[in-house]
Amino acid sequence: MELSFVGYRALVTGAGKGIGRETVKALVRCGAEVLAVSRTQEDLESLSHECPGIQTVCVDLANWDATAAALKDIGPVNLLVNNAGVGVLQSFLDITPDAFDRLFDVNVKAVVQVSQIVVRQMQARGSSGSIVNVSSQASQCALRDHAVYCATKAAVDQLTKVMALELGPYKIRVNAVNPTVVMTDLGKKVWSDSERAGVMMSRIPLGRFAEIEDVVNAILFLLSDKSGMITGTTLPVDGGFLAC
Ligand code: NAP
Repeated sequence: MELSFVGYRALVTGAGKGIGRETVKALVRCGAEVLAVSRTQEDLESLSHECPGIQTVCVDLANWDATAAALKDIGPVNLLVNNAGVGVLQSFLDITPDAFDRLFDVNVKAVVQVSQIVVRQMQARGSSGSIVNVSSQASQCALRDHAVYCATKAAVDQLTKVMALELGPYKIRVNAVNPTVVMTDLGKKVWSDSERAGVMMSRIPLGRFAEIEDVVNAILFLLSDKSGMITGTTLPVDGGFLAC
């Protein structure tokens, strides 16, 4: 399926590495203008070298005031990918307040804030739009040592549905993708342990983890007009893990 985003402007969070970085590159290949938002300046500089013409914003999305200041003049945006996310592994009894706050600030609160900023200017321009939130299979299945991470992604799923409900009348669609393990920096942190990885892999009917491209393709489909009647979904990109 050929997708074109010529004439569209997209904002991607967590654009410095992993899924976000490859999403930026794919959007640029499809003709979109892109505003790449991430936390590490070097990543944004190297991304700009690979994709000349993109705009970049360096900000820690866990900081509400800094994010409001950094994104106050973003200009018109039609497409938003809320991808920035962090993972911290702690057994339930070891959960610390710092880790709890960090996970919810980045994985949930930033999704609310960035979406508010983008949707307000869509509404001011009377523009339609499409938003994709990057959730996880962990939103719907208990994973050992992932209690808070699972809770943040469950929150993202429900946020996606309520946003779809409230923003539908403005022709703004909101969907989530829910990947299984992807061996990005974040994925490697958790799944490099071969025993842990083997147990997970054995529960995936297709018998493999997801490639970054698998996730990017699903994001692009949900951003595009090809999914024009789809809103409020949480789309597993999980090789069947959640079906079992
Ligand atoms: P990644 O390779 O670690 O990349 C995450 C990107 O988000 C990095 O560029 C990171 O920047 C940025 N980021 C993190 N915290 C930020 C903050 N506070 N402010 C601004 N940018 C921030 O991770 P990934 O695997 O691509 O993950 C992307 C999304 O997919 C996340 O929401 C994750 O939960 C979800 N996901 C991942 C997997 C997996 O197995 N990898 C599975 C399911 C869902 P810095 O490096 O500079 O902090």
